[in-house]
Amino acid sequence: MILIDGKKVAAEIREELKKEVSDLKSKTNKVPGLTVVLIGDMAPSQIYVRMKEKAANEVGLKSEVIRYPDSAEEKTVLEKIDELNKDKSVSGILVQLPLPKHIDKQKVIEAISPTKDVDGFHPANVGNLSSGYESIVPCTPLGCYLLIKKLEKNLSGKKAVIVGRSNLNGKPMAQLLLKENCTVTITHSKTKDLKDECLEADIIVAAVGIPELVKGDWVKKDAIVIDVGINKTDKGIVGDVAFDEVSKVAKALTPVPGGVGPMTIACLLKNTIECFKKAH
Ligand code: NAP
Repeated sequence: MILIDGKKVAAEIREELKKEVSDLKSKTNKVPGLTVVLIGDMAPSQIYVRMKEKAANEVGLKSEVIRYPDSAEEKTVLEKIDELNKDKSVSGILVQLPLPKHIDKQKVIEAISPTKDVDGFHPANVGNLSSGYESIVPCTPLGCYLLIKKLEKNLSGKKAVIVGRSNLNGKPMAQLLLKENCTVTITHSKTKDLKDECLEADIIVAAVGIPELVKGDWVKKDAIVIDVGINKTDKGIVGDVAFDEVSKVAKALTPVPGGVGPMTIACLLKNTIECFKKAH
């Protein structure tokens, strides 16, 4: 079984990006800038934002975090986004989710210029991706896609089963694999016989949020299994895939942690640099 080392692949990507940033700096005398807007003090969001800021600094991006208290008004946030949209030193804008309840998430997502939408959540980017046009792709599915492509260049005709249909993970993942000519099945909480669907798959991407949902006897021999899940349990952090069982059957599997997670951050940096290159 191939243990897909997302940490290592992400480190390689970050090294390449570091060089790219340095080259861009020599050519343009400018560096790409990533601005993260953080509202409230939820512990996981604080941790994610710190990780993103650290990674951005390490590859030489100009990184800024704008913090607002939980009580911040929607209007204040929208005005700040408008300001950032106009600021030429800002290449990418990310508003850390989830937002406090009184702030309309979709309004915030749509306020970000699609050319600076490094999360790839703006309807213009979602539409371009599903139409098969060039677009900014959400960081986690992009990371999964790069891991799959590293293992197998030609995915044409493969049967892919995506478990979970979130806008963040499942749907964009399906679009990326469809573009590669996979035959894609998107499953969700109302899917009948999820096990049987998974047993058909050459590629399984699990993005559900249920600890160890995908079992060893759900996986075809020689399948590639990508585990997006991050679930806190009594045994610590586990994925959506029963690692011990599935590792005995699959051809390749991502661990949790150390699989998809590090790729998400590397892809955020990648998207920021792409936005900068398009703007210049
Ligand atoms: P989400 O928005 O909660 O979506 C979960 C999806 O799973 C929904 O489409 C839901 O179906 C489906 N689902 C729920 N129960 C199911 C079942 N029994 N069988 C099949 N499908 C079922 O979750 P998400 O934001 O995509 O996140 C999924 C997981 O990935 C979480 O553990 C999250 O922490 C993790 N995550 C990891 C990263 C990373 O960087 N590694 C990034 C983001 C998220 P319905 O649509 O029918 O409700």
